[in-house]
Amino acid sequence: MTIKILATIAVELAWLGYCRPGFERDLGIELQERLGGEIVDLQEDCGFVRVSCATTQASFRVSVHDLTFARQLLLTRDAPVALTSNDRVNPIFEALTAFLAARGIDHVVDCRVEYPDTNHGKALSRSAKAIEPRLRELFGEAGMLAGHTKYRAMVFLTPDKRAYIGVADMHLSAQDRLGIPRFRMPADAPSRSTLKLAEAIHVFLGSGQDEALQPDMRAVDLGAAPGGWTWQLMQRGLRITAVDNASLKGDLVDNAMVKHLRADGFKYTPNIPVDWLVCDMVEQPARIAKLVAKWLASGWARYAIFNLKLPMKKRNEEVERCRQIIGEALDEAGKSYILQFKQLYHDREEVTGFVMLPSRKERFAHNVAARDKPANTSRGGQKKIGRETNGTMGVKGAKGVSETKRPPKPASSGKTGPGTLVQTKPVLNLNSTLPRAAASPWSVKPLPKRKKAK
Ligand code: SAM
Repeated sequence: MTIKILATIAVELAWLGYCRPGFERDLGIELQERLGGEIVDLQEDCGFVRVSCATTQASFRVSVHDLTFARQLLLTRDAPVALTSNDRVNPIFEALTAFLAARGIDHVVDCRVEYPDTNHGKALSRSAKAIEPRLRELFGEAGMLAGHTKYRAMVFLTPDKRAYIGVADMHLSAQDRLGIPRFRMPADAPSRSTLKLAEAIHVFLGSGQDEALQPDMRAVDLGAAPGGWTWQLMQRGLRITAVDNASLKGDLVDNAMVKHLRADGFKYTPNIPVDWLVCDMVEQPARIAKLVAKWLASGWARYAIFNLKLPMKKRNEEVERCRQIIGEALDEAGKSYILQFKQLYHDREEVTGFVMLPSRKERFAHNVAARDKPANTSRGGQKKIGRETNGTMGVKGAKGVSETKRPPKPASSGKTGPGTLVQTKPVLNLNSTLPRAAASPWSVKPLPKRKKAK
């Protein structure tokens, strides 16, 4: 009886996640595993997926930052608004305000209108640009805009003239439009993949990147050529050992900050521990995961960013396998660690991984952050914070590399920064477990002042 009553008053809900076109199934499986529910009408290459959500389960409890294949995560009304009349704004506004009221939300920070990252989706950008300011005006007139709430009203337009209406939790959703951080290609970087590392740093470290990437740190780049990742680290003042049989290009050749070793990345070992390992070798994902696990478990590096080239099928399983390989090795070594995987905007058939062995200070910051966040479910991005042993180094010497002296300050070319983030919105990266740095290159900029609604 109770069930029947609930069913009649329940608003039908669905989680809506954005993803790279072609990865809808992977995201659908991930959302199901993390949030429960059933995948609703899965369409290949549409750039989003919906998973049903019981009203009793309709609370934000998983951060988009802890999902591998999601760029954005919204809670939406299952039934979209059909955009058949000339007036698209008022039907959306009415449905949206009713939806928010049903969820007990009377204020929102903002209202955004977005669309899928596909060719058909991009054709909706003009509509989105036209609708969004008018909706915002209506929210202002209704007195519903306020800075103190954690919700953002969201509208997701689809090419079949529908609008999904919903809400995003500011703390657990992506701040970048469409969930895509945009970077300008630096003119003197040797390869476009420099943007991949720039994005990984932005996504995984957020405003903690000044802390984690300091000018006197050392890094090893396995599979470095032609040098986009090495260049990215060099711009931040790190001193890099670039391991690759192929040649580096541009500024990196004969550079005091870069030591190029023509060696096998699977055989190379540092003669003293370094701060960072980055690895972009094209290899079996499990083999890369074992290599990263070995570096971190042996204490050869404290942070790692690495790319996993995924198989065509069972991509979820492959990511889980790699998560397990690294997790088990670090557990066995008695290390505390943070481990995350993300399909970045610059990743194609790949995902990027991040591991960090947090310092005492970082663990403290993490614990403070964790107290403010809903508990992670089983496969959360953060793991095993607590015990840590001091890793002793059983490291064989690598020929020709002296990493014992403090590195010189970076030779500033004065040409470009490490890749400019093309956005003016604040970066509120709440997946970052690191202390927020005051003068981060991506430092939070205030939102432009909005005109008061008349
Ligand atoms: N991250 C680089 C950049 O930003 O320019 C691109 C790396 S590219 C995708 C892969 C590189 O890995 C190639 O240059 C290749 O020579 C190198 N590689 C593949 N297997 C390797 C191995 N066993 N040892 C060292 N380098 C390897």
